[in-house]
Amino acid sequence: MTLPSLFLSHGAPTLPLTDTPARTFLQNVGATLERPKAILVISAHWETEVPTVNAVERNETIHDFRGFPRALYDLRYPAPGSPQLAARIAEQLQASGFACNIDRKRGLDHGAWVPLLLMYPQADIPVLQLSVQTHLGPEHHLRIGRALASLRQEGVLIIGSGSFTHDLSEFRGHEANDAAPAWVNGFADWFDAALSKGDMPALVDYRRIAPYATKNHPTEEHLLPLYAALGAGGATAAATRLHASSTYSVLRMDVYAFQPKSELAQAKVA
Ligand code: ZN
Repeated sequence: MTLPSLFLSHGAPTLPLTDTPARTFLQNVGATLERPKAILVISAHWETEVPTVNAVERNETIHDFRGFPRALYDLRYPAPGSPQLAARIAEQLQASGFACNIDRKRGLDHGAWVPLLLMYPQADIPVLQLSVQTHLGPEHHLRIGRALASLRQEGVLIIGSGSFTHDLSEFRGHEANDAAPAWVNGFADWFDAALSKGDMPALVDYRRIAPYATKNHPTEEHLLPLYAALGAGGATAAATRLHASSTYSVLRMDVYAFQPKSELAQAKVA
């Protein structure tokens, strides 16, 4: 089985508690995919100097946010980990020339467990996380993803979890379903067009050429997981937008699948 890689926007931590189109989408998307053997999440909320993969028997749920309703802190996602797969991921990255550390304690941050709670509520599929290196930018994450692309053929669902737009200075004071302003949609439209054309030079250089790029991403950590997912789709990956919406006006919640067209054609025949 060959799965696509996914980029998803995890939005505010309250996503599981708030009725939005993005929540409904995530609750339904799991059923549209073959059941993964394991899930690897590259989350915006784990930033390290060197790529690091977690290797635990069972994941702790990390509530890495403050000032949200009590009900959110009561949620748990005790998915198993997979130390064996973690070792393979580290080896595969090292074989592609990356350093890679293994963290034997860390569980799942909310960039991983919030969307997975909606997609696979039983928490019975092994989940691993891989960290981002925000200082190394888009191309590094594209290459990390490419180094792991073959795992899709073994039934590993590779998910980049971030936010398509992410200016938190504009987040307060909005209701969950407020519409997005032009500077948010202008960036999202540019990025969507570049993805659908597969324009890698433009995507890698987005910060200089996309409209409102630094306004929507004052820092890059919430967009870099998209590059990892894009890379994991393979060198000839085509991007398919599975979902588009916004929450709290400024957080676009778009979701993309990445997979070579040849694999898509095979899946249709099968
Ligand atoms: Zn986040």
